[in-house]
Amino acid sequence: MLNKFLTHIAQTSDDPLGLEIDYAEGPFLYTTNGKRFVDFISGIAVSSLGHRHPKVVEAIHKQVDKHLHVMVYGEFVQQPQVDFAELLTSNLPKKLEQIYLVNSGTEATEGALKLAKKYTGRTKLIGFKNSYHGDTHGSLSVTGRDVYRDPYLPLLPDVHFLEFNSSANLELIDEKTAAVIMEPIQGEGGIIPAEKEWLQKVRKRCDEVGAMLIFDEIQSGFGRTGKLFAFEHYKVVPDILCIAKAMGGGMPIGGFVSSKEIFQSFKYDPPLNHVTTFGGHPVSSAAAHANLQELLSGNYLERASVIEKKIRSELKGKGIVEVRGMGAMLGLQLESWELTKNVVEECFEQGILLGWTLHSNTLIRLAPPLIIEDQLLNEVLATLLEAVEKHS
Ligand code: PMP
Repeated sequence: MLNKFLTHIAQTSDDPLGLEIDYAEGPFLYTTNGKRFVDFISGIAVSSLGHRHPKVVEAIHKQVDKHLHVMVYGEFVQQPQVDFAELLTSNLPKKLEQIYLVNSGTEATEGALKLAKKYTGRTKLIGFKNSYHGDTHGSLSVTGRDVYRDPYLPLLPDVHFLEFNSSANLELIDEKTAAVIMEPIQGEGGIIPAEKEWLQKVRKRCDEVGAMLIFDEIQSGFGRTGKLFAFEHYKVVPDILCIAKAMGGGMPIGGFVSSKEIFQSFKYDPPLNHVTTFGGHPVSSAAAHANLQELLSGNYLERASVIEKKIRSELKGKGIVEVRGMGAMLGLQLESWELTKNVVEECFEQGILLGWTLHSNTLIRLAPPLIIEDQLLNEVLATLLEAVEKHS
């Protein structure tokens, strides 16, 4: 199968992991040759409730028996969309009262940028260095890494990048600014949390000049940091919130959330000025609803904090520079690229899937599913620590 994969599936690198997946369940992936892997990156922060959570699978089955796609977004009343939207918004601050549903993270970013431009009538956008917002053109335009941007220039005009966690040049956020977009915890940039006071300052500056503050919580959302959304740690509410990844419990779905007043601007000049055929697909929405119900009814958020404490207390010693992040969205910074590579490979051999972030090669991403039990967590951490000791 690997050969056919390499032949027929467009490749994005010369060395894909190439695991041949048979099935996945809870914290585990099983390959066609009978090997079991602990998925310690949750499909990159997606399967927070583990793979194929029974409640999510049940909701998918139920919806498949009712209807699949019936109409483009926003025309028909589809119960799974309404159920999800109601539950989500009732757990968000008041001004985040409506959601526009899409299929992925990058589409959430695209929609949020368009909404901010339309509502404010402005074009200037502010992003942050080292950020990541997705790989379509609008998202790439506000992504703060030149290596990924340069091959695709020109991108959107009037985009400016500030240093993350620095108050220098905040005056660049001005009356011409449509939006400031940021991840409250930079994910691909190396798991870097924003500083609370700084984030509050950015919020204040946006309010002063009437710029929309967009939080990209595509990676940090849905319980990963120990709160439903990371912004709750900061007591800063965005004007527009982008979500995806763990939202669908393993199904593709995303969204951007804002106020009714702001969303009004999508209705005119021209009408229907943002349309998607599949956005908020009923099966994905049903999965998202079941996923959120489960997330809110279990002790998953506390679990994220317990996982953080455990990881921080265990992963210490030679070769380890620091553990950073929040909850179960952590990065293990090691001393060198070689050590990082060896540790990831050694753990892979031992049946533990770890990963790099896109923008750093000395950081191991730790994003276990929130359902991981203590015993398995202890086993993984022991193996990881042994690998660091062996190779440093
Ligand atoms: N924003 C952030 C913060 C992300 O981590 C990602 C995905 N890694 C995206 C946007 C893009 O999401 P998607 O891959 O679903 O388009």
